[in-house]
Amino acid sequence: MPRPIEALIHTDALAHNLERARACAPDARVWAVVKANAYGHGIERAYAGLRGADGFALLDLAEAERLRALDWRGPILLLEGVFEPRDLELCSRLNLWHVVHCEEQIDWLAAHKTHQPHKVFLKMNSGMNRLGFRPAAFRAAWARLNALPQVDEIVLVTHFSDADADRFGRDGISHQVQAFHEATADLPGERSLANSAATLRHLKDARVRGDWVRAGIMSYGGVPDYPEHDSAHWDLKPAMTLRSRLLATQFVQPGESVGYGSAYVAERTLRIGIVACGYADGYPRHAGTGTPVLVDGVRSSTVGRVSMDMLAVDLTPVPSARPGSEVTLWGQGPRGSRLPIDEVARAAGTIGYELMCALAPRVPVSVAD
Ligand SMILES: *Cc1c(COP(=O)(O)O)cnc(C)c1O
Repeated sequence: MPRPIEALIHTDALAHNLERARACAPDARVWAVVKANAYGHGIERAYAGLRGADGFALLDLAEAERLRALDWRGPILLLEGVFEPRDLELCSRLNLWHVVHCEEQIDWLAAHKTHQPHKVFLKMNSGMNRLGFRPAAFRAAWARLNALPQVDEIVLVTHFSDADADRFGRDGISHQVQAFHEATADLPGERSLANSAATLRHLKDARVRGDWVRAGIMSYGGVPDYPEHDSAHWDLKPAMTLRSRLLATQFVQPGESVGYGSAYVAERTLRIGIVACGYADGYPRHAGTGTPVLVDGVRSSTVGRVSMDMLAVDLTPVPSARPGSEVTLWGQGPRGSRLPIDEVARAAGTIGYELMCALAPRVPVSVAD
């Protein structure tokens, strides 16, 4: 028998979450964002659940090729655009739409020989200060692109830094919405502004809705504004389960310690279970004592330090647990139980995004439905 750890991808949950994005933005089209190998879920597996999307947005040209190999004929968007001039040949060949965020990318397009003009997404740096033209330079970039025979359509895009929370005494996005709106008000073309957080929180504002929303983390059941809201609040379902089994149990006496560094010392007699899961599987080592976990679907918590291949859990709430008992590290457990990845991430001082993306290659992954 292989080591008992495995990950499951729930295609029905992906489809459900995509519908949630649609319900938030009934008049817009929905990009399923599948960068980083579909946030760790696997492009091919995620495609089975997300094929109802209007398009797929990603970064890597190789991932775009994988989608075309799955026979996806619809839109594919390169969110960072091309990385060098010859990438444009693949865009022409596979009909990839691409972001244009800097002058060099316009130069490359101007020198590109193609029979098929491209649909491009001109990106504004409205305040995130990563990619894009500043509002004052946006119009000139638009005019340059618009004059190119290689371009037949220009969509206007920007990205929010703070759509997940109110910050600095404001709603997090209005300064960016305002900057974008002012600089684009009289430009033609479709618009795309909202990521998951804006899709869930800010679509009352028609200027934010635009023509395309970009649903990343919410498609996978992760909550961008946890703990302010949780997955039950937004009606999102976990698309990834990480589960394993107990290898052993131990009775620990008061004063005895558990695991490396004796990071946990028992205050009372305690029955613990040793789980076949560690940081080499992608479980966060920074998750300290008390991180939630399900044993046979019953909520419990971890004890002591996470090691490379194992971690320990408190079996007090599950006296019937024994070697072989099922342990849910995150996602969907037995009998309808659930452990949102956001809770585990928070206990480790990170976000669900990182845990999904960091699922380790040694963990076998299969599609649940
Ligand atoms: C990753 C990404 C998204 C999706 O973000 P989520 O928070 O996962 O919804 C949207 N737009 C751009 C430009 C991105 O890079």
